[in-house]
Amino acid sequence: MTATITILQDDITQLKVDAIVNAANVSLLGGGGVDGAIHSAAGPELLDACKKLNGCRVGQAKITPGFRLPARFVIHTVGPIWSGGASDEAQLLASCYRSCLDIAAVHGFKSIAFPAISCGVYGYPVDQAAAIAINSIADNLQNCVDLETVYLVCFAEPVLKAYHEQFNCIKGVL
Ligand code: ADP
Repeated sequence: MTATITILQDDITQLKVDAIVNAANVSLLGGGGVDGAIHSAAGPELLDACKKLNGCRVGQAKITPGFRLPARFVIHTVGPIWSGGASDEAQLLASCYRSCLDIAAVHGFKSIAFPAISCGVYGYPVDQAAAIAINSIADNLQNCVDLETVYLVCFAEPVLKAYHEQFNCIKGVL
């Protein structure tokens, strides 16, 4: 069975799914944006768990429990900082989505929710990031046999618009 990709505008910390993805930084010790929101909602136990992970490389991912979140787990990934597009940003961003789905596959998760990785302070152009998110997820879904739903969670209106546009562009080829 292939999972359904659903775009929604919401606060990712409120979602009751098997795993939410955190757009973290290499230290995994918290930050602003969605990272800050996830740590506040999960409680201090999340930071304690992250301290044991020894950071994370750009494009890779690591998992912790969700603690006080409605989500059972948090998959922490580190998106690339946009610096013009010639520093492997696209491959690294695609790798974030792939690494998170690999972890979801290993754990047999049925549902996962992604924020718009790198689209906040990391400055990735939103339409390019949306295309990479959707294509990378679609390319890797066949490895996730248990996965039923992938949520693409948009906080801000421009991200929601970009996701809908990119989704309509590639619908014909999925
Ligand atoms: P990055 O450092 O990877 O750019 P940010 O946290 O700055 O990460 O932003 C990533 C995206 O997450 C942005 O589009 C931002 O609007 C969105 N975001 C911020 N808070 C939340 C939240 N609570 N739920 C879902 N998305 C959020």
